[in-house]
Amino acid sequence: MNAFSYTRAATIGDAINEAAANKTARFIAGGTNLIDLMKENVARPARLIDITRLPLNRIEDIPGGGLRLGALVTNADTAYNEQVEKRYPLLSRAILSGASPQLRNMATNGGNLLQRTRCYYFYDTTTPCNKREPETGCSAIEGFNRMHAVLGASDQCIAVHPSDMCVALAALEAVVRVQGRSGERTVHIADFHRLPGNTPQIDTNLQDDEIITSIDLPPNGFADHYAYLKVRDRHSYAFALVSVAAALEMSGNTIKEARLALGGVAHKPWRMQEAESLLKGKTGTPDDFKAAAEVIMRDATGFSHNSFKIELAKRAIVRALKHSVQMGARA
Ligand code: SF4
Repeated sequence: MNAFSYTRAATIGDAINEAAANKTARFIAGGTNLIDLMKENVARPARLIDITRLPLNRIEDIPGGGLRLGALVTNADTAYNEQVEKRYPLLSRAILSGASPQLRNMATNGGNLLQRTRCYYFYDTTTPCNKREPETGCSAIEGFNRMHAVLGASDQCIAVHPSDMCVALAALEAVVRVQGRSGERTVHIADFHRLPGNTPQIDTNLQDDEIITSIDLPPNGFADHYAYLKVRDRHSYAFALVSVAAALEMSGNTIKEARLALGGVAHKPWRMQEAESLLKGKTGTPDDFKAAAEVIMRDATGFSHNSFKIELAKRAIVRALKHSVQMGARA
């Protein structure tokens, strides 16, 4: 681990100014990913800005009916919050399928959004990796790529985003509130994470001096018809091979609105409105679900070790949608 200096920010403004003054500085809260990256010499910040004392640790109602999740609320406190469990059970379910209880007790909501890929080569500094060291190459494309992307990849990087929480946030159409030197702004969750393209080293559209202050959930939590289905190698403490967040708004037996987001398949949570639109007005037969699954996976491309994910994702989508249709069902 490299030497670094440490400071504790007393206000959001202090944190922003510290970050702006030092391009290699990093905010630290739960530290569940950053400390690992520093130990492995993948991240080498010259300064850590401790933000754990900032007033971003509340969950509160938003005028108009939504819920605001403070960036520093832990994943565990979010998942077990009474309002989240009642109004956004899809989110609670997704969070609790990730990591381990110990990690969820430390990891924060803001940090969950900013966690980095778990591509093995990204953590192995003896191998080329465009995300870790731009223009060195991608070891995964011709290497062991079982966990890697089948959608939205580039010839520079085929990594996937590891979060479960973000998959549910994508389905719920959450909004991320950020603050920087130029003030506050909001970023739709769909625009928060990036595809790798030619700049795989940049994971998000957050600016260097910006800090996440909250995640805002819209009023509709799809609490009556939802499922979070995660397929993984172990039942606990494993990243998704494929995960599906499904949320339906039903009118009688008819689907009024459908949301479908996938994890473990791309550099960001994956949604396709065409597939969701296909479900509107349908009663939700297995054939309806298969048709939606075919559309969302239409452009999927496998690599030497991960082509199985394409069929796995289609089956997981159908299963998650079936569960969602059944009132109160759980995947
Ligand atoms: Fe690096 Fe991305 Fe290739 Fe993994 S997939 S080795 S993170 S460039």
